[in-house]
Amino acid sequence: MSEFPPLLPTFARADIAFTHGEGARLTAENGDVYLDFGAGIAVNALGHAHPHLVKALTEQANKVWHVSNLYRIPAQEELAKRLVANTFADTVFFTNSGVEAIECAIKIARRYHFKKGHPERFHIITFEGAFHGRTLAGIAAGGQEKYLEGFGPKVQGFDQVPFGDLKALDEMIGPHTAALMIEPIQGEGGLRPADAEFLRALRKRCDEQDMLLIFDEVQTGVGRTGKFFAHEWAGVTPDIMAIAKGIGGGFPLGACLCTAKAASGIEKGSHGTTFGGNPLAMAVGNAVLDVVLAPDFLPRVQKVANYAKQQLGSLIAEYPDVFEDVRGQGLMLGLKMKVPNTEFLDALRAKKMLAVGAGANVIRLLPPLIITEDDVREAVKLLGETAATFQKKAAAE
Ligand SMILES: *Cc1c(COP(=O)(O)O)cnc(C)c1O
Repeated sequence: MSEFPPLLPTFARADIAFTHGEGARLTAENGDVYLDFGAGIAVNALGHAHPHLVKALTEQANKVWHVSNLYRIPAQEELAKRLVANTFADTVFFTNSGVEAIECAIKIARRYHFKKGHPERFHIITFEGAFHGRTLAGIAAGGQEKYLEGFGPKVQGFDQVPFGDLKALDEMIGPHTAALMIEPIQGEGGLRPADAEFLRALRKRCDEQDMLLIFDEVQTGVGRTGKFFAHEWAGVTPDIMAIAKGIGGGFPLGACLCTAKAASGIEKGSHGTTFGGNPLAMAVGNAVLDVVLAPDFLPRVQKVANYAKQQLGSLIAEYPDVFEDVRGQGLMLGLKMKVPNTEFLDALRAKKMLAVGAGANVIRLLPPLIITEDDVREAVKLLGETAATFQKKAAAE
């Protein structure tokens, strides 16, 4: 058979299609209801079919969808103003995805040094286990061989050192270094948090050597860890930050935020996008912030997250042959597995619960931020039932 699938076969998809959802539940074509602790890889921050988001999107759909950035887009100005008011940033560029926000961050950092008369300072140092998206620069920044293989010469200007290794970092920093880029908690790399002290050390080096600090908060941002942004836990602010995933609540939306200083190399024409920040995306982004920035929202996320972490702690104690530890922060939780994570995820899905894999044999639990303690109890029950089938297997061997 020479027939090639009409969909480029880049994903190992589960054979399941969902027709609709509500909150943390997704319904499949056959009527089965799944507990969604994957949230489309940390995207559906407010769950499925959140009434406020549905209203914002449908109202905007009846007005105007797209005008391009040749004209003012008031909702874009509004969302930028709100992000600036609630973060370290002075200015925002909107994109359609995480990796475009990363590309923007890289361009801003390179341009900063170019404008200061140092075009040779274009190298960005990243950290082993990183994931920064799948464009050519994204895979070069991530530095993972499995994503680079076969795609020609690696885009120049990315140097990598082990995660958390200051000595290696100091040896790598040179006259060509423009910026350091890090995820405050590595997501795809296996839920590995950078400790606050390490982030402070990065900040210090950037201040001392006129480098820019870039945080990739594409996954950790917009309430995922219980703060608006994960770096708030460490009290360290970047010069540039890429966000996406949660900010659109399921609508494709990303942004690159930065300080006025970092943006000093940017002028009219330096960068652009056709779709980025279009009225539909902006309506949803503003609606997401209406909910996430309400005073009681993030404290509630922290509370349910603490409960989840405590319950998961008991779960791993009960199944020591299956789970090694629980890691992560807020509702970005990981279970380090002693059995293959992919097999466990398949078994969990058979019990009608969704979660996401990660590197280092970790399972990511990334539920919508609106989950309740009842949802946590149900998830822990399903995880326990699944673990029991593996524990038995382990005992029988
Ligand atoms: C998902 C992700 C990206 C890439 O986002 P896309 O929208 O897939 O381009 C980049 N960095 C991190 C940390 C991510 O989790």
